Amino acid sequence: MSKSYRTIILARMGEITLKGLNRGKFERQLIDNLRWRLKEYGAFSVVQSQSRIWIEPKDVNPDVLEDKETADLVLHAVTQVFGLVSASLVWKFQGDLQTIKDHANMLTDEILSEHDYKTFKVESKRGNKRFPLASPEICVEVGEAVLIAHPELSVDVHEPDFIIYVEVREDLFVYSEKLEGHRGLPVGTAGRGMLLLSGGIDSPVAGYMMASRGMQLEAIYFHSYPYTSERALEKVKDLARIVSQYSGTIKLHVCNFTEIQLNLYKNSPQDMLTITMRRVMFKIAEELAHKQGCQCLITGESLGQVASQTIEAIQITNEAVSDLPVFRPLIGLDKEETCNISRRIGAFETSILPYEDCCTVFVAKHPKTHPQKKHIVEAEANLDIDALVKQGVEGIDTYKIERTPRT
Ligand code: ATP
Ligand code: MG
Repeated sequence: MSKSYRTIILARMGEITLKGLNRGKFERQLIDNLRWRLKEYGAFSVVQSQSRIWIEPKDVNPDVLEDKETADLVLHAVTQVFGLVSASLVWKFQGDLQTIKDHANMLTDEILSEHDYKTFKVESKRGNKRFPLASPEICVEVGEAVLIAHPELSVDVHEPDFIIYVEVREDLFVYSEKLEGHRGLPVGTAGRGMLLLSGGIDSPVAGYMMASRGMQLEAIYFHSYPYTSERALEKVKDLARIVSQYSGTIKLHVCNFTEIQLNLYKNSPQDMLTITMRRVMFKIAEELAHKQGCQCLITGESLGQVASQTIEAIQITNEAVSDLPVFRPLIGLDKEETCNISRRIGAFETSILPYEDCCTVFVAKHPKTHPQKKHIVEAEANLDIDALVKQGVEGIDTYKIERTPRT
């Protein structure tokens, strides 16, 4: 027997609803991003109404969401699109109060087959004022029907184990679960940034956080082959791929940094090596950012985390950049908070794989933690910085990193 309902997705917008006159621009971008993100699963109609978005399979593939496994993947994909607070798989059907009761009971059967729940409540919204019952009456009627069919359950309006949501519009809807979204604003509404992406925990999180504000990402990785291995580069690509689940396609620029680093190693004082190296990195990243139309640099620095992230070291590295803002979204986060975000976005397991990055290979034993301007002037006296930057920008390979399908 064919189903008496169609499964669709209801998603709820977050911060976008606070926007004023330009709200339409954010909504259009969100809808475009959703269509793009769901492309691999088929064609969907994506329609916005007030603060919600209704996602429905088109007629060419009416049943894509009827398979539970695919439906869960699509729902998960929807929640990864920035701009949404939550999303639900929803049953859509037509009929009257009795039909609502029948579907509420079917949904309850499904829930109870997976969970050992004892209490529930019904919440209802009536958009169609021609429907003969008001919301509170719908809740009472549907609640009673569920209790009659499931005498083992009882109602708890304060802390129910599950909630049955009923919605009455031109069509009727029931659903129960809400999957949390990643919030933020749709990517494509806040310009483009160049992320300094290493193989660690912090920088992928930094990229994710800026993308969550609507920023498109490109990334640069400084690769010191063979001091850093081919596998270290693969790890960075994997991390970019994970971030791209949220940010969309990332252009990853790999700068061949070995000769530059050897030059710095030879010609600058040991205790200033990290700082001179980071200043050259920032200069190369800035020049590339300009070339690519990026409007800022993004790093995973956090105040006080390591010697190169004291306020003095950050100030001196920052001065190497001439006119782009450098965003450090983790600056005030504790390492544990960063690790939590990293786990939530699925990057942690990859980030902790033990491949060396270039900073650990050429690391100074006693780096200066409170460098002053005069130290950097001395340290760079024997270096031709412009030539090193030119060499860096010329030695770049670019890869287009796309999310792995069905992730
Ligand atoms: P992460 O966990 O992101 O590797 P970290 O805590 O190891 O950061 P550092 O090595 O001091 O800290 O690097 C600080 C920031 O500088 C990184 O978050 C990243 O943005 C950038 N960075 C460091 N190494 C590289 C590299 N090899 N290529 C690109 N960016 C880098
Ligand atoms: Mg690092």
